[in-house]
Amino acid sequence: MATRSAHKLGELRDLLRLERGELVSLDDLGIDGEPDETGATFETNARIKASFAAAATGLPALADDSGLEVDALGGGPGVRTRRYAGEQATDTDNNAKLLLELIGLPPERRGARYVCALALALPAASGPRGAPRIVVRRGTVRGRIADGLRGSGGFGYDPLFEPEGEPVGGRTFGLWTAAEKGRISHRARAARRMARVLADLGF
Ligand code: IMP
Repeated sequence: MATRSAHKLGELRDLLRLERGELVSLDDLGIDGEPDETGATFETNARIKASFAAAATGLPALADDSGLEVDALGGGPGVRTRRYAGEQATDTDNNAKLLLELIGLPPERRGARYVCALALALPAASGPRGAPRIVVRRGTVRGRIADGLRGSGGFGYDPLFEPEGEPVGGRTFGLWTAAEKGRISHRARAARRMARVLADLGF
C-alpha cells in the first residue's frame, strides 16, 4: 500500500479484507522517499503513487488518492486537500481554514463531496515499454460542511463532514463509527469496486 497514512491503511485493511494477500505499507517494507503528486486529478496522483510503490518493491501496489471537493470553492481544495492550509499543514490547520472560507454560508451552500481514487499497479503484468499495468477505481460520497467541528472519529476533515442523509447540524463522520463510515464512504465505495478486481487476480 503506497501510503504513510496509518488511517488510510487501517481503513483499507478493514474494507478490502484480502483473503490471500496482506496489505503492508512502504514503512513496513523500509522504503524511503515518495513521488511528487503533480497530477491534476485524484486518478493521476493515485497512478503516480501506485507506480512508484510497484517499482520500488516489485510487488503489486495499491494507492489511495483522496480529498474533498467543496461546491462553494469551485470543487476545491481537490487534489490540494492535504496541503490546503500549506505544505506542512495539520488536520487542525486545514479544518480551521475551511471553516473560515465558508464562514456565514447557509447550510444549502455548504455542499461538498469526498472523492477517493484507488489505483492498483501490477509490476508483473507489464504494459507498454515495461510500465506496470494500472487499474483505477473511484468512489464518492456527498455531504455538507458543518459550521463547527464535531466528533473525533476518522481523520482529516471528518469532524466537519456531515454525510448525505444527516440533517443540518447532524452527526459528522467524526461522530460516526468506523463501521458506519465503512458502509458509505468514498473509500468504501472505491474499495468495493477494487475488491472485485483483486478477487479476479486471486487476492
Ligand atoms: P492524499 O494523501 O494526497 O490522498 O490526501 C488526502 C487528504 O484528504 C487527507 O490528508 C485528508 O485530509 C483528506 N481525506 C481523504 N479521505 C478522508 C477521509 O476519509 N476523511 C477525512 N479526510 C480525508
